[in-house]
Amino acid sequence: MIKIAERLSQVKPSVMMQVSMAARKLRADGVDVLDLGMGEPDFDTPRPIIDAAHAAALAGDTHYTPTQGTAALRQAVVRKFATENGLTYTPDQILIAAGAKQVIFDAMAATVEPGDEVIIPAPYWGTYLDIVLMFGGTPVPVACPAEDDFLLSPAALAAAITPQTRWLFLNSPSNPSGAMLDVAQMQALGQVLRDHPQVMVLSDEIYEHILYDGRRFTSFAAACPDLADRVLVVNGVSKAYAMTGWRIGYAAGPEALIKAMITVQSQATSGPSSVSQAAAVAALSGPQDVVETFRQAFQARRDLVVSRLAQVPGLTIAPPPGAFYAYVGCQALLGRRTAQGDVLTSDADVVQYLLTTGRVAVVPGAAFGLSPFFRISLASSTEVLTAACDRIQQAVAQLC
Ligand code: PLP
Repeated sequence: MIKIAERLSQVKPSVMMQVSMAARKLRADGVDVLDLGMGEPDFDTPRPIIDAAHAAALAGDTHYTPTQGTAALRQAVVRKFATENGLTYTPDQILIAAGAKQVIFDAMAATVEPGDEVIIPAPYWGTYLDIVLMFGGTPVPVACPAEDDFLLSPAALAAAITPQTRWLFLNSPSNPSGAMLDVAQMQALGQVLRDHPQVMVLSDEIYEHILYDGRRFTSFAAACPDLADRVLVVNGVSKAYAMTGWRIGYAAGPEALIKAMITVQSQATSGPSSVSQAAAVAALSGPQDVVETFRQAFQARRDLVVSRLAQVPGLTIAPPPGAFYAYVGCQALLGRRTAQGDVLTSDADVVQYLLTTGRVAVVPGAAFGLSPFFRISLASSTEVLTAACDRIQQAVAQLC
């Protein structure tokens, strides 16, 4: 019998993967399911980025790179932070990893000890919780209800901080709600943090380019410059450049923390992929018009889904300010009965019903720590999203 380490006992396999697998299984059985579960852009990586990786491989860029990332990519990231975010870092304050996910893993491995608490505003990307648990930390979810636009309030933050608090996670714009903190809201959180020097901030800014209605992005590190020595900014190329499969994320932060994260990474992977780093240099340093093209496509899809689902009695939806998800409230469906006589008692039931009756796969709010909601990914064509909204509307109309 294989003995699995105790530290994995609380870590759950990704719910997103489970939803995708359920949808795939139905498809294999011949059922036409529309999968709105996935969290990655449906676009292909732009050709110049692929060409840069190809050229790098042909030029012999096929060896181990420095663990911290190539000098070229770290320079490109330094330039990106300077020009897009008004942040000044040296290359020694930058770490390149196999995705933003690995950046977060490295950071928790480097800093979290059993008993340390990590504040995670809910709804959250479930990975945050599981990585903290993996290192014996205690995730402290703080509910951020729809009435507060799914945003962490300074009062809720202050109430959650204890002497054991090690980190506050921020994710603006957010997966799954799209919620976005404005500068004043970030500064109000910063004001609370000034009284608690033991708390570091992990600001996951991976959706910074996917903003709607003319909004502009400010990094938490730029909004609260005096806290820079305890802020780890996390970002990556997956979402902005449709590069999820290349696995390149990056971080900027205090050198001592980056150094410790390099130590973790040196024994985990030796370093990120050489050709993927060449591709990321091309993405960050090349023409940026593709980012705006993707953004406009997401804006059209967001507008479509919000206007369609707002008309479905029993569902509530507010236009998300950013990211490519809609977080749809389904409180009014609880207690309703399916044609088979089953009563819907949770968002997981609603999601199961939408899958089997509506043939649409979405993710239950339970996976993100705030119910009753479900998350729809906007990473599908307008035709698919229109058909999915039709199906959701029809399925909800059939409930008694
Ligand atoms: N952060 C958030 C909030 C995400 O939603 C995701 C992916 O879904 C990631 C990070 C992971 O990005 P990467 O592909 O760079 O690991």
